[in-house]
Amino acid sequence: MKRIAIFPGSFDPITIGHQSIVLRSLPLFDEVIIAIGDNTQKKCMFPIEKRKQWIEKTFEGIEKVKVDVYNMLTVDYCKQKNAKYIIRGLRNSIDFQYEQNIALINTEICPEIETIFLLTEPQYTSINSSFIREIMNFGGDVKRFLPENIRMDF
Ligand code: ADP
Repeated sequence: MKRIAIFPGSFDPITIGHQSIVLRSLPLFDEVIIAIGDNTQKKCMFPIEKRKQWIEKTFEGIEKVKVDVYNMLTVDYCKQKNAKYIIRGLRNSIDFQYEQNIALINTEICPEIETIFLLTEPQYTSINSSFIREIMNFGGDVKRFLPENIRMDF
């Protein structure tokens, strides 16, 4: 059976931290679906179509990576896609505490789906999308935090 994993998130925008997690997860799975949660409760800076395009461009030519948008419980989306794994990245203990709760709830709802945590590489620990948005709001240069393929858009 194909080992399919979902990497869910907002990707507002995708960063080199996200990119690294996806690339490192590839040897573990047959297919990794990067799934953008279309959550109306969460105000995003960039439109969902743009976020999707940037992710597609980042992983252009990598067959195993698919990009999609979803609007339902993550575990329900996993079932729809026949995915048994959820990938999440961990930067620090704050991420851990937050992620632990979500993973436990997901296990409660759907025990057959495993959450797999990958620790960030040390050089990406401080990179997060909200900090990139903040720098952009004040006109700063964010290129170095973004995947090479999409830097020309910023
Ligand atoms: P969410 O809104 O679900 O937090 P994000 O797009 O912020 O979505 O993050 C998606 C996933 O990527 C989360 O598991 C998050 O911990 C992880 N992540 C974000 N930035 C980094 C980074 N610099 N290094 C490793 N993982 C990261």
